Amino acid sequence: MPTNHRLSTLLDRFVTQLAGEIATRARRELGSAGLGKRAARQKLDMRCRVDGCKNRSRGPRFGYICDVHQEKLSKRQQQAARDAWNEKRDVRRA
Ligand SMILES: [Zn+2]
Repeated sequence: MPTNHRLSTLLDRFVTQLAGEIATRARRELGSAGLGKRAARQKLDMRCRVDGCKNRSRGPRFGYICDVHQEKLSKRQQQAARDAWNEKRDVRRA
């Protein structure tokens, strides 16, 4: 039956496109989620804010101060380290 044949061809094409679209979206979403996380992580400068310290901090929740300096420095000293860091970056940017 020509009509049915045509319909099933259309349907086939539709299903194929749909499947392709779903696969593309799934890949894009998975990919961008992975990339997004990675990109966000790269944007954050995780280095410890203490001058000369090469350790990685645990991020914004810890004020970008590494474990060693969290123990070594008082909150005020940590804040001073952050301030100095920010100042340095501002100078570099300007
Ligand atoms: Zn440190």
